[in-house]
Amino acid sequence: MSAKIIDGKAFAAEIRGRVGAEVARLKAEHDITPGLAVVLVGEDPASQVYVRSKGRQTIEAGMNSYEHKLPADTPEADLLALIERLNEDPAVHGVLVQLPLPRHMDEAAVINAISPAKDVDGFHILNVGRLATGQKAMVPCTPLGCLMMLRDLHGNLSGMEAVVIGRSNIVGKPMAQLLLRDSCTVTIAHSRTRDLPGVVKRADIVVAAVGRPEMVKDEWIKPGATVIDVGINRIPAPEKGEGKTRLVGDVDFESAAKVAGAITPVPGGVGPMTIACLLANTLTACCRIHGLPEPEGLTA
Ligand code: NAD
Repeated sequence: MSAKIIDGKAFAAEIRGRVGAEVARLKAEHDITPGLAVVLVGEDPASQVYVRSKGRQTIEAGMNSYEHKLPADTPEADLLALIERLNEDPAVHGVLVQLPLPRHMDEAAVINAISPAKDVDGFHILNVGRLATGQKAMVPCTPLGCLMMLRDLHGNLSGMEAVVIGRSNIVGKPMAQLLLRDSCTVTIAHSRTRDLPGVVKRADIVVAAVGRPEMVKDEWIKPGATVIDVGINRIPAPEKGEGKTRLVGDVDFESAAKVAGAITPVPGGVGPMTIACLLANTLTACCRIHGLPEPEGLTA
C-alpha cells in the first residue's frame, strides 16, 4: 500500500486565495482592509525569516502588514506599551508577537497583554479557555491548519481514534482540543508515555508534534491511518555535500508512507498551512471586530 501524499503547499495556496477573495470583498463592500501587526524582538535568524514571510504573504492577500522590530534589550514595559497601542489601533485587526522572546521577558505576560479579539496566534489565556470550553475562540494557526487538512480529507472526523504526540501549548494541546471538538476519541502522548508505539498503533489519526527527527516508525502506524507530521527538524545531509543539511519531520516518511493511508510530507505539508491560517485568522478577527459574518471554512 502506498499513502496519499497530502499536498500542504497546494492546500495553503487555495486557502490564501480564498482569504484574498474575502479581503477584496470586504474592501469593496465595506471599505475595510484587514491589518496584521507583527512584532519581532531581537535578531533570531529563524524568526526573521518567518516574519519576512508573514509580511509578504499578508500583503499578497491584500491586507495591510505592519512590522515592528525592537532590539533584543528592549525593556518589557516598552513592548507592553507597543502592544497597548496596537490593541487600540483601529487599522490593526491582528497582533502577533513572534516567539521566542528574549529571556528577560515574561512570555505569558506579553501574550496576555494582547487584546483577545486581535490574538491571531490564539495563545491568550482567554482564547485557550474558550477553545477548551467549546466557545468561539481565536485558534492557534498550526493546529488549525492540521484540522483543515483532516476535515478536507475525511469530511467528518466523528468517532475516529486520534493520537497527538506532544503536549505543547502551541501545537499538542490545542490540536487535541480541536480533535475533541470534532468528536474524535483523543489521546495525548508525550515524553513520559509508556509504550508509545502501542498507543500510536490504535490511531486512525496520528499528529506528531515532538521535534525529534524521524522518531515515528512505520511499524507504529495502523495500516491506512492518516499521519500529520508537524515536526520540523534540520539534520546533516552529507549526501548533498560537506556541511549541508536537510529538513525532516518527526515521522520516518519513506517507510511510514508505505503503511499509512495518507501522510503529510516535510517540507510541504503542515508548514505552509501555518501562515495561510494566520491570514485566515486575521480575516476572521477583522470580521468579528466589525460585527460582520465570518467567511465559512476558514476557522474551526
Ligand atoms: P515542544 O518542544 O514545545 O514540545 C514537544 C513535545 O514533545 C513535548 O510535549 C514533549 O512531551 C514531547 N516529547 C518530547 N520527546 C518525546 C518522546 N521521546 N516521545 C514522545 N513525546 C515526546 O515543541 P512544539 O513547539 O510543540 O513543536 C514540535 C515540533 O513541531 C518541532 O519540530 C517544531 O519545530 C514543529 N513546529 C512546526 C510548526 C509548523 O508550522 N509546521 C509550528 C510549530 C512547531
